[in-house]
Amino acid sequence: MEPIAYVNGAFVPLSEAKVSILDRGFLFADGIYEVAAVLDGKLIDNASHLARLERSVGEIALALPESIERIQEIQKELVKRNNLVNGMVYLEVTRGADTGRDFAFPKGVKPTLIMFTSVKDIVNAPSARTGIDVITVPDLRWARRDIKSVALLAQVLAKQAAAEANAGEAWMIEDGKVTEGGSSSCFILTQDDVIVTRQNGSEILPGCTRKAVVKLAEERQLRIEERAFSVEEALAAKEAFITSATVFVQAVVSIDGKKVGNGKPGPMTDRLREIYVDFAKATAV
Ligand code: PLP
Repeated sequence: MEPIAYVNGAFVPLSEAKVSILDRGFLFADGIYEVAAVLDGKLIDNASHLARLERSVGEIALALPESIERIQEIQKELVKRNNLVNGMVYLEVTRGADTGRDFAFPKGVKPTLIMFTSVKDIVNAPSARTGIDVITVPDLRWARRDIKSVALLAQVLAKQAAAEANAGEAWMIEDGKVTEGGSSSCFILTQDDVIVTRQNGSEILPGCTRKAVVKLAEERQLRIEERAFSVEEALAAKEAFITSATVFVQAVVSIDGKKVGNGKPGPMTDRLREIYVDFAKATAV
């Protein structure tokens, strides 16, 4: 069966899902996206993703074409129509297609809303057991990384460099500190068992998985510090890991070819992954 996508009010076969060449998402990257995981046919931490969507569109003065409640209904309908068990729902909203290409916001143009799904067994992904290698690259992005904009060229280049190095992620570096991964938040566990992850701010995307993991760790009285860290500190750490909607919690076993800890996923990473999977299953909608 051909996958079904959603485009501006209609559920259509993926091959027929089209938007205009004048769409501002295409011309200017004038749009916002979100990705929510699906486990056992249910959306994971979706309220958090939709809250971030509302915040992101607010920051660029883009009005959603549907209510948040309706967007969740569409997400669920799409999961159902695709018989999706495990994977993710991608959604994107752009400032729509005007009659030409003017930078300033168009008047009377309806925003574009599209969604599609993809299949991934996140819980049983092989890299969850083995961990991943990461490389480091300079962070080339703009100054409002807290907005989940579809302008992802810097991440495309970063993740292509990672792919060419057979690495699973690229960690982006600015002023000697790790900002975040190409599509993930970064964590380390120091030798004295403090979990460190960079504080939120305009330098990084406020990861939904990061937020949940920090809260789950705090609830268990684990020590957490939200501050920037360097690659040297990560290499001297006991463990390192990344979080995102599409990997949950994933061990990082080397950085630029140098081992982190003993070069294997560590017990704290494994524990946080289990805790997150339990939380995901218990709160899925
Ligand atoms: N940081 C960046 C730059 C991302 O693109 C992503 C996800 O795509 C994340 C962090 C992780 O965010 P989340 O946990 O909400 O998926």
